[in-house]
Amino acid sequence: MDRTSSAAAPTTRRGRPPRSALAVGLAGALVAGLVGAAPASAERPGGRGGAPVPLPPRAPVAVGTGGAVSSVDPYATQIGLAVLADGGTAVDAAVATAAALGVTEPYSAGVGGGGFLVHYDAETGDVTAYDSRETAPASFTEDVFLVDDGAPLPFRDVVSSGLSVGVPGTAALWERLAETEGTRPLAELLAPARDLARRGFVVDETFAEQTAANAERFSLFPATAEVFLPGGEVPEPGDVFRNPGLARAYDEISRRGTQTLYDGRMGRAVVRAARYPRTAPGVEVFPGQITAADLAAYEVLEPEPVRSDYRGLEVVGMPVPSSGGTTVAEALNLLEAYDDLTGEQLADVPEDAYLHRFAEATATAFADRNRYVGDVPGVPVEELVSQGFADERACGLFDPDVAAARPIPFGSPDGDYATCDAAAGVQEAPRDDHGTTHLTVADAGGDVVAYTLTIEQTGGSGITVPGYGFLLNNELTDFSFAPTTPGVPDPNLPGPGKRPRSSMAPTVVLQDGVAVGGLGSPGGSTIITTVAQVLTGYVDRGLPLVDAIAAPRVSSRNGATTTVEPAVADGPLGEALRARGHALSTSSEIGAATAVRLLPGGRFEAAAETVRRGGGDAGVVDPG
Ligand code: GLU
Repeated sequence: MDRTSSAAAPTTRRGRPPRSALAVGLAGALVAGLVGAAPASAERPGGRGGAPVPLPPRAPVAVGTGGAVSSVDPYATQIGLAVLADGGTAVDAAVATAAALGVTEPYSAGVGGGGFLVHYDAETGDVTAYDSRETAPASFTEDVFLVDDGAPLPFRDVVSSGLSVGVPGTAALWERLAETEGTRPLAELLAPARDLARRGFVVDETFAEQTAANAERFSLFPATAEVFLPGGEVPEPGDVFRNPGLARAYDEISRRGTQTLYDGRMGRAVVRAARYPRTAPGVEVFPGQITAADLAAYEVLEPEPVRSDYRGLEVVGMPVPSSGGTTVAEALNLLEAYDDLTGEQLADVPEDAYLHRFAEATATAFADRNRYVGDVPGVPVEELVSQGFADERACGLFDPDVAAARPIPFGSPDGDYATCDAAAGVQEAPRDDHGTTHLTVADAGGDVVAYTLTIEQTGGSGITVPGYGFLLNNELTDFSFAPTTPGVPDPNLPGPGKRPRSSMAPTVVLQDGVAVGGLGSPGGSTIITTVAQVLTGYVDRGLPLVDAIAAPRVSSRNGATTTVEPAVADGPLGEALRARGHALSTSSEIGAATAVRLLPGGRFEAAAETVRRGGGDAGVVDPG
């Protein structure tokens, strides 16, 4: 994302520096002891296996050499850094970091879920997008979430049920990466996380809060309560949390490959847990529909990434079934169009005008996303991300002084942009939920990985696979249960083998074909606005990366209100937005971004949240 620099000098990307040659930092050293551990433990699976791993300190920003990792969690970041210090690549470190997040952030990530990853390969200059989104079972139909009279099933009841569980893709992606782009076996990349699960980690505020918020739901499912409410209690900050079942799951994948999940013992346990969830006495939930055949049919896909230009940078993101790439790109294109319309650059306008423009751009992009993007054939991706379409949308709608009435109509991405926008129709904004995590990694050779993974809501379906310590996703609730607007086609209705539309937006930024950074965030549909806001904060508003992440967030997604954080709502910026006609609603926190930047001379900057979710952890291999 550096506007002026070139990428890190290529060094010994595929070579392995000697283990001790690179510093990992003091905090990392505690965790680094986990890296290089024997991949298949001699201990009895599920055994306690040693003293708990102390909680490393966290930092929101780090600058140095040797590579960089940023995630929401210090254990995960330090494990990723240790892999880099050990000579691993960005892909290796991303898998190890994600596996660690499966341990310490089990309500947001893990082998029971899915995700999207974008990888820039410095050797070839190629960017590859990986889609490990959960899929619907073959039995799914358009009306699977409707009752006989055509009304949708109650959303909350579907969330905590087997019916919401899609075929998970995360483990398949890790294996694909280890076998293709990675430089070491999956077992080696899982070992640090496996040992962390077995030895135990120190509970922080976020883990304790998320467990407490889910305690009622978790107690519906005895296998979940057993793991996540040990002794019937919510763990407190400072407690040690062990997950021997998850250690066993990682061990089993290490020994047998993901075949155990897609066509073996673990898979049978997943299918049983989703189809016949064991519930507490008197509790009934919708049964799931996934089968062994659905698991066996699962595939990681490699769709063409979405590419667009923004202020001389190339922004590369995730295509369908995520709406992340197209919607971020359209919003950025709209902001450029507003510059032309008004004759005033985004960089030069006052903060309230910036946020107004930003809200108008994202709401307009969401109007088109809601109408056109989903796992259906013929999504007009090229048109949605074209500057011509954005110019047409801007000149039909944008007023620097007044917010357009919501919902903003969708446009016609038809390739004919000679005139100003004529509204093509209106689609209501769909429902929205949160529970995900994002990590960003860069290695000494200049590779960058942006990886967003999820189990959908915080705590997923609430169903833990007995004996394996991981939660199953509720991703299928990302489908529209019923057409969003009567008479308007909805590309996100359920269907057999379909992948629900996502908002995940792992993003890599290139300059002259070379990666200069990467970023992403959790937050459901606010992911898109968070990624776009961090980019504009850095690129246009001149904020240092960590400040662009910390800046108070505004998220306008074409609903009745624009969601803002309290720092906006309660101050002069909120007043100025209201004066332009924005109806504001407040959310205590939007997103939890991480980013890395490649600086000249082989240096890196990693940045994370300062406050949100208790603060993230940004690190570099050698801060010297
Ligand atoms: N399931 C959501 C999506 O794919 C992500 C949820 C979240 O980020 O919290 O867009």
